[in-house]
Amino acid sequence: MGARLIPKVGRVVRVVEEAPLVRTYHIRVEDLAEPQPGQFNVLYVKGFGEVVISISNFRYEGASAIAEHTVRTVGAVTSYIQTALNVGSPIGIRGPYGRGWPLKEFEGLDVLVVGGGIGLAPLRPILKHISRYRDRYGRLMLLYGARRPVDMLYKYEYGEYRAIPNSTMLFSIDMPYIGWSDYVGFVTDLIDRVSLDPEATVAYVCGPEVMMKVAASKLVKRGLREDRIFLSLERRCRCGIGVCGTCQLGHLFVCKDGPVFSYQEVKDYLAVGGL
Ligand SMILES: Cc1cc2nc3c(=O)[nH]c(=O)nc-3n(C[C@H](O)[C@H](O)[C@H](O)COP(=O)(O)OP(=O)(O)OC[C@H]3O[C@@H](n4cnc5c(N)ncnc54)[C@H](O)[C@@H]3O)c2cc1C
Repeated sequence: MGARLIPKVGRVVRVVEEAPLVRTYHIRVEDLAEPQPGQFNVLYVKGFGEVVISISNFRYEGASAIAEHTVRTVGAVTSYIQTALNVGSPIGIRGPYGRGWPLKEFEGLDVLVVGGGIGLAPLRPILKHISRYRDRYGRLMLLYGARRPVDMLYKYEYGEYRAIPNSTMLFSIDMPYIGWSDYVGFVTDLIDRVSLDPEATVAYVCGPEVMMKVAASKLVKRGLREDRIFLSLERRCRCGIGVCGTCQLGHLFVCKDGPVFSYQEVKDYLAVGGL
């Protein structure tokens, strides 16, 4: 187990300002295994500690991997990353860890992706995957909401998403904004605005937990099977490999058994407030 906890040394090669207090770090690292969409890495900042961050995009450049991580500043380590990490900075990285989105199992189905705020980060590899293997899936529907237009991630990629054949993209913000012509309201309202074939659709959802609960129950009402609705859960997470127990949810560890779970697996736990 020890070797799994030793970080590799990566280097920041690009920083993209996504939204207030949210940046995407492109990290170059040798010998990093290719992640499954939805997996995460643990980033280590010397002298400050570690944080669990989803891999929002990944590619190889020669022998090096470039892993993208979109980080929102909330506390000690993420604040340090925001203020001190720039192009050229070293950073420790270990992973990839966790159970990602099941995609291969659902080839042939329509795909509904529902994201809220920074929740688009772990969903982004699904959009890349479907764009790359377009003929393996049916319709693609992306519903994405944020508080304000300025909070939306990856705006520079929306043209690429919209160009995916047989796809629908709907966007929402919580409150009216000058110049905004798309929907105003919760992203879960957009579920009522798409036509779904419940027998032939798989849904991948990530955002604030309340949003995921509302989305899942709406989708169940629309006739989707509970074992075809997948949520990426977030809990305070330390080791990333199921040893420390901080992310335990009932009999499950979010880091090791998830972070992606079917709604069927976790709905009873999600119904318990504060768990
Ligand atoms: C599987 C997984 C994937 C994640 N992916 C991303 C990502 O792509 N981008 C991103 O910005 N963040 C992501 N996170 C959350 C990220 O790990 C935490 O925000 C980070 O650890 C905070 O570290 P910190 O030292 O800056 O804050 P701390 O000083 O440790 O905490 C600051 C505050 O945030 C709260 N907090 C810390 N971690 C969590 C958590 N996991 N859930 C709820 N509240 C928390 C603390 O209770 C405290 O109030 C992910 C978490 C998990 C479990």
